[in-house]
Amino acid sequence: MANVKASRRAPVKSKGPAPARQGRAAGPAGLGIPDKTLSIPDGLAVRQLADLLGMTPVEVIKALIKHGFMATVNQVIDYKTAATAAEELGFQPEPETAVAGPVRPGRPKLEEDAQDLQPRPPVITVMGHVDHGKTSLLDYVRRANVAAQEVGGITQHVGAYQAQVQGQLITFIDTPGHEAFTAMRARGAQVTDIALLVVAADDGVMPQTIEAINHARAAEVPIVVAINKADLPDADLERVKRQISEQGLIIEEWGGETICMPVSAKTGEGVQGLLENILVLAELLDLKANPGRPAVGAVIEASLDSSRGPMATILVQAGTLRVGDLILVGATCGRVKAMFDHLGARMREAGPSTPAQVMGLAAVPAAGEIVTIEGNERAARELIEERQRAKVRQTLAPQAAHVGPGGKALRELNIVLKTDVQGTVEAVRTSLERLSTDEVKVRVLHTAPGNITESDVMLASASRAVIIGFNARPDPAARRMADGEGVEIRLYNIIYRLLEEIEAVVKGLTAPTLVEVEEGQAEVLQVFRVGRNQAAGCNVREGVLRRGALIRVKRGEELLYEGRLDSLRRFKEDVREVTAGYECGIGLPGFDDFQPGDTVETYRQQRQH
Ligand code: GDP
Repeated sequence: MANVKASRRAPVKSKGPAPARQGRAAGPAGLGIPDKTLSIPDGLAVRQLADLLGMTPVEVIKALIKHGFMATVNQVIDYKTAATAAEELGFQPEPETAVAGPVRPGRPKLEEDAQDLQPRPPVITVMGHVDHGKTSLLDYVRRANVAAQEVGGITQHVGAYQAQVQGQLITFIDTPGHEAFTAMRARGAQVTDIALLVVAADDGVMPQTIEAINHARAAEVPIVVAINKADLPDADLERVKRQISEQGLIIEEWGGETICMPVSAKTGEGVQGLLENILVLAELLDLKANPGRPAVGAVIEASLDSSRGPMATILVQAGTLRVGDLILVGATCGRVKAMFDHLGARMREAGPSTPAQVMGLAAVPAAGEIVTIEGNERAARELIEERQRAKVRQTLAPQAAHVGPGGKALRELNIVLKTDVQGTVEAVRTSLERLSTDEVKVRVLHTAPGNITESDVMLASASRAVIIGFNARPDPAARRMADGEGVEIRLYNIIYRLLEEIEAVVKGLTAPTLVEVEEGQAEVLQVFRVGRNQAAGCNVREGVLRRGALIRVKRGEELLYEGRLDSLRRFKEDVREVTAGYECGIGLPGFDDFQPGDTVETYRQQRQH
């Protein structure tokens, strides 16, 4: 006998359709796109899946929840999970063989044919505390390593440039700082492969140094440390090394893995060595992409040029972007009319890790928006319309779930913690992390004393984290941004209340078990036809039959049908419910195999923690 009480059982043989399939005629057919098969890359954000399906992220999230996955808009899910949702929504998914470019370009998935993959230059973002020399270092590298002479010696600021080191290229994002880095991530783009952390040798690790480390870590981007201003007489390299070790970055010299080099952005001392080390790390990271596929990338920056119209610097992450390509960027599109490199020279094509300033978009896109290629204008327009409809802001609870290896859903509660004084930081952090359970991991991404800032909100938005202020408050700009981004801020001044509430959130994230609650039972007395369908006249034996309840039909122990009770009548009148002792007529969509003597059971599912 089949045990039909288990909540997530294997599908039982039933002659009726599964309940989840009914009712919804969604799918691309409804959107005017004839083909229902859909190729899905392995590893894409929920938002991107929604775009692919032409649906809102909310619809996709609901479909995922139906299958036991709590996901958030920016969360990256694997192919299997995405396929489950796509099927639920009426599509026939198939794995895309190409690189999941825009999602985790730093670590391209290698399911793609290995022979198509080619090494690509690393993409570097420079981070660190203010005045520690980020801009100076970027300027020095540009002067020393960019072959500007060819085009009149002027490099242009387009948001990124490529430097030559020993005949190899390194791509630098030209806007230093972790704020821009995290803001892009909040939009779904992660372009950086390596974070170059600049720490001034005379000043040491400062609050923004720590913030930068935490932002890079939250994005799982490796960190290389440049101890800058090594030329200054009061440079104290040992102190900086000690301080960064205290942040958990153990340098190579001390047996760790973090590359750490003294440099001077003023004299150039050590810079070439640093760049060579970056190339070595890049090789270890095995950064590859398939230049043969249609381009995917992200907008680094964009502006409106009075004579050329909207100009966007696009970093190609995989594939090759060409003049003439029809590109789709967020809610705008256009054909690439012309492309320029960071020296202002025209380009006909741009391969992986290459920044290109693109002319031809209809509007100015936002930094961090994902760029894809479309086959024709109509498809692009349809996607844009869908995206515009889907722009409904997401304000889901801060549940970041992570589908761990083996498909086991390990949920994570990401937290950004701000406190009034340094002394409380560690105590609160440790107590919070202790709330982790087998199923839910509490991860404190960043802690620091001080007010809640815009940077904290960006980090929380990019990492689907909740911000906790313990005796700390958001500044007004941060509050506005949190409202706009749908980031939750919780403020406390009593520690036990903080822990109690977060414990409750952790409990709320624990996967609910669905238990079945029986509602009614009836016996089929006779069978008759109503139009083209079969209906069963029943006598309700126990409880109550409710329209809309889950129902199964059994003959003895054999399960014939599972679904939803759609039609419930008494004397030809549609009714909501019929209680024990009364007779009624029921009809089930797609099922016409009733026989007198069959039993029907109705039930509902209830969440139980
Ligand atoms: P950022 O805020 O991190 O971008 O820092 P800047 O690049 O603007 O540098 C801040 C100040 O430090 C400027 O006055 C620079 O001239 C100076 N500076 C930067 N790098 C060095 C260096 O290697 N040695 C010395 N002596 N000064 C430097």
